[in-house]
Amino acid sequence: PTFKSLGLIDPLLEALEQIKYKTPTEIQSQALPHALEGRDIIGVAETGSGKTAAFALPILQKLWEEPKGLFACVLAPTRELAYQISQQFESLGSAMGVRCLVLVGGVDRMPQAVALAKRPHVIVATPGRLNDHLQNTKGFSLRGLKFLVLDEADRLLDMDFGPDIDQILKVIPTERTTYLFSATMTTKVAKLQRASLSNPVRVEV
Ligand code: AMP
Repeated sequence: PTFKSLGLIDPLLEALEQIKYKTPTEIQSQALPHALEGRDIIGVAETGSGKTAAFALPILQKLWEEPKGLFACVLAPTRELAYQISQQFESLGSAMGVRCLVLVGGVDRMPQAVALAKRPHVIVATPGRLNDHLQNTKGFSLRGLKFLVLDEADRLLDMDFGPDIDQILKVIPTERTTYLFSATMTTKVAKLQRASLSNPVRVEV
């Protein structure tokens, strides 16, 4: 397939051309049709498979159709991964003026709180720091959220972010789309999957 035949809109096709993604990777070909239909997705895929674009593209497409405040939240296990994910959103969403914010630990909270007030469309966060802002940053909530992504779910749980994720699940809308990506499908990941996804499609590479 081509990105066009998978159903992506022109602003995304233009961005893909600019960053020279010529053909979809396996995980992208499998996940995109279901994601664009609005399904929850479980993706069993490793880093290097192109999984980031597999979840960023459908989110950006829906954002284009229905631009509204804070739209999507991606949870990642490490700062480095969070910055990489944010960069992908920014390059794929360049033609759409998407505003992305990274919320990770180890840096000052104040500048993050100031940036939150500017209403980003996409937040990419480590779970601990996101919870910190949910509890301590006035006026910030995830009430209007449309998409939640749990990226590298196995690593999120290995790093003991389970309680933070449970807390976040309590304060986001139940009516949302959820994507969970993991390199491995452990018992713990399956449990998180049951707690957070509804009637998901499983794609595996
Ligand atoms: P990821 O698995 O999301 O970390 O992606 C691995 C690498 O593949 C990243 O450097 C991406 O920029 C790149 N990539 C993702 N999708 C494509 C594609 N369709 N064509 C070429 N490169 C890609």
